[in-house]
Amino acid sequence: MRLILLGAPGAGKGTQANYIKEKFGIPQISTGDMLRAAVKAGTPLGLEAKAIMDAGGLVRDDIIIGLVKERIAEADCANGFLFDGFPRTTPQAEAMKEAGVNIDYVVEIDVPDANIIDRMSGRRVHLSSGRTYHVKYNPPKVEGRDDVTGEELVQRDDDKEETVKKRLAVYHEQTEVLVGFYSKMAASGDATAPKYVKVDGTQAVETVR
Ligand code: ADP
Ligand code: ADP
Ligand code: ADP
Repeated sequence: MRLILLGAPGAGKGTQANYIKEKFGIPQISTGDMLRAAVKAGTPLGLEAKAIMDAGGLVRDDIIIGLVKERIAEADCANGFLFDGFPRTTPQAEAMKEAGVNIDYVVEIDVPDANIIDRMSGRRVHLSSGRTYHVKYNPPKVEGRDDVTGEELVQRDDDKEETVKKRLAVYHEQTEVLVGFYSKMAASGDATAPKYVKVDGTQAVETVR
């Protein structure tokens, strides 16, 4: 099973990815988590990516495509994977198509911009696992602590209101076109095309799930 979760920053991709990866026994491939790990480790990629991420921009397509190609060649991806936050641009989607990476399902989680700021301001993350919580809508069992490890939760540097607004603008400019890209592929009737599913992401976490 190969899946793509598509949606604006804060739509709930990471939250649902946690359920989906368990249910299907496939790894979650979050390019955002991979980049944050590189930032934390202080690798050359991390050093380059940090400023772009803090400004709410997108990291260069060739870098991202290289990272993902390496990742999906690993043994644990043999039975499939879940893309979360990738592809984010037409060149990224085209690169997967050209590499013959056939996708079974594209799931779009639809949430209007008006809800996003509220979600981001309350978002807390466990950096090493990528697990996300919300202080109001999806609180951890113990305040400020990850449910699984008990480790500290942090607020992401790029979840400030002004950066979130920039990221939303970038989403509309560069990522939203993928809704059309994959819907058209799905409608083509091509046997290798993904099925396209759209979900109302304003519902409760369990309902969306
Ligand atoms: P969110 O969960 O809010 O959608 P992510 O964790 O997916 O955010 O991404 C955080 C940041 O990492 C993005 O704002 C961007 O700078 C960078 N990034 C993540 N994935 C990609 C990608 N596929 N292409 C380019 N930049 C990316
Ligand atoms: P994404 O990966 O798409 O950027 P997240 O899964 O990190 O989004 O969710 C963004 C924030 O919204 C998190 O704080 C999360 O706990 C919260 N959230 C996710 N899904 C819902 C939902 N259905 N209703 C309310 N809050 C949600
Ligand atoms: P500590 O190791 O002190 O617990 P953190 O885990 O909070 O620190 O963060 C380690 C490093 O990663 C810091 O340099 C911080 O700026 C950076 N960092 C933390 N969260 C993010 C994020 N969401 N995006 C990018 N960099 C981050």
